[in-house]
Amino acid sequence: MAECSLANGTRGSKTPPTKDGVTAAELFLEEGLTYNDFLILPGYIDFAADDVDLTSKLTRRISLKAPLVSSPMDTVTESSMAIVMALCGGIGIIHHNCTPEFQSNEVRKVKKYEQGFILDPVVMGPDNTVADVFSAKARNGFSGIPITENGQMGGKLLGIVTARDIDFLSREQYKVKLNEVMTPRELLTVASSGIKLKEANDMLQKSKKGKLPIVNEKDELVSLISRTDLKKHREFPLASKDEHKQLLVGAAIGTREDDKDRLDMLVNAGVDVVVLDSSQGNSIYQINLIKYIKQKYSDLQVVGGNVVTTSQAKTLIAAGVDALRVGMGSGSICITQEVMAVGRPQGTAVYNVAAFAREAGVPVIADGGVSSVGHITKALALGASTVMMGSLLAGTTEAPGEYFFSDGVRLKKYRGMGSLDAMETNKSSASRYFSESDKLKVAQGVSGSIVDKGSIHKFVPYLIAGIQHGCQDIGARSTEVLRDMMYDGKLRFEKRTVSAQVEGGVHSLHS
Ligand code: GDP
Ligand code: 5GP
Repeated sequence: MAECSLANGTRGSKTPPTKDGVTAAELFLEEGLTYNDFLILPGYIDFAADDVDLTSKLTRRISLKAPLVSSPMDTVTESSMAIVMALCGGIGIIHHNCTPEFQSNEVRKVKKYEQGFILDPVVMGPDNTVADVFSAKARNGFSGIPITENGQMGGKLLGIVTARDIDFLSREQYKVKLNEVMTPRELLTVASSGIKLKEANDMLQKSKKGKLPIVNEKDELVSLISRTDLKKHREFPLASKDEHKQLLVGAAIGTREDDKDRLDMLVNAGVDVVVLDSSQGNSIYQINLIKYIKQKYSDLQVVGGNVVTTSQAKTLIAAGVDALRVGMGSGSICITQEVMAVGRPQGTAVYNVAAFAREAGVPVIADGGVSSVGHITKALALGASTVMMGSLLAGTTEAPGEYFFSDGVRLKKYRGMGSLDAMETNKSSASRYFSESDKLKVAQGVSGSIVDKGSIHKFVPYLIAGIQHGCQDIGARSTEVLRDMMYDGKLRFEKRTVSAQVEGGVHSLHS
């Protein structure tokens, strides 16, 4: 009882000193820490978790409604992953462990998935056949095709062919010319060029048709809009889009001479951001490439990295990067720290680089080492704007590769891009971790498998809700407030011992 009164400060001579944690600056003063080594202390809640705004900068010019990025790894991000990541408010970075043709085609698939005005729709002429429409559908996934006099964009509009015109035709009828099956011009609802997207969408809704061709005063086709896009827009309010209402997508490239050709192809395909993929980004090769890209494609956003120190960050910022990717050796499949003796614990790396890059207005992507939603919130609380994930997103339906069973468990492959397995598949992967002339390759990653996690469509909304709840407990209404609280010293952290970590995990259960 006496002790209790003392603690309350009502009796006795002196109130014992108390302290609610330390600031981030104090936390990272000494040894390197990673996400599991500390906790964030709770704050005051006066808002709902749903109200937490997660809008964050991916690069100087690109903002995302969800701070989530899928890693450029060949078992994580191709077009299927990038489409769903962007629909859910994040972004996917297409890997480069493949030919430039394959990679740029994956970028094109993402850009084509959803649009406002489709400015370069697939168009055919009256003499094309039903078979041509079916093969276009197999290639592109859609079959709504405007028919113009010369079979090209800008030609006089003659009609439109949609799935309903050809659904029930028999194989013998595949030879039939499109002018026999199309819905002719006089039955079409069309809009005039100059119409605003909102008005065109209203018109499409009222017409109850699937497509609305837009024509100029000479009745020549200038663009097309599709009803499906109205539905996609309604279903995915967080979707990351460019000014043409196309989904945002990134792509990784190496820093070799031939990567310049790859870059040209990716830009032609419409890529929004390129990620220079080096495990140690502070190199003359990367600096030269950043300058080259900024000169040739001044609008293209460039992410440099990877870096873990402020001096590495300094050179890349001076070269002109629009964001920095932070992490060395923290990835779940990564053995860099063991093999090369180089790297940095991820919490310390993110805190230091983010605090430094903030002065230059350069956002930081915390890359790797994220194995739970709490780690994402911690990375954001340390100053990262977005978080890049490999293992957390691998094993989902949208990740490349087929499922297989082992001991009755449904699995998908997940491998480091510096694993021998990945390097044997393609040279690009090796270029991140080795020089061409290396006679003996030393792996910096391993290859393994991940349990089936279901679809990203469900998993990413779970991650978003988890981060929102974390921010609510902390008392931060947005990721911006979260960062401000950290830099103001209002956000309090506490180191946790190994036994505190055990206490924080699931324990003492019989089963
Ligand atoms: P369709 O009725 O078979 O044409 O297919 P949907 O209307 O269901 O879907 C078409 C989707 O593909 C929309 O999201 C379009 O934005 C997109 N798309 C991208 N490029 C084109 C194109 O050249 N033509 C058409 N029809 N759709 C395109
Ligand atoms: P994860 O989310 O699985 O913890 O980490 C993914 C990150 O690990 C990637 O974004 C990339 O930066 C890094 N990474 C991918 N493959 C390798 C590899 O083979 N070796 C190393 N050192 N890092 C890798």
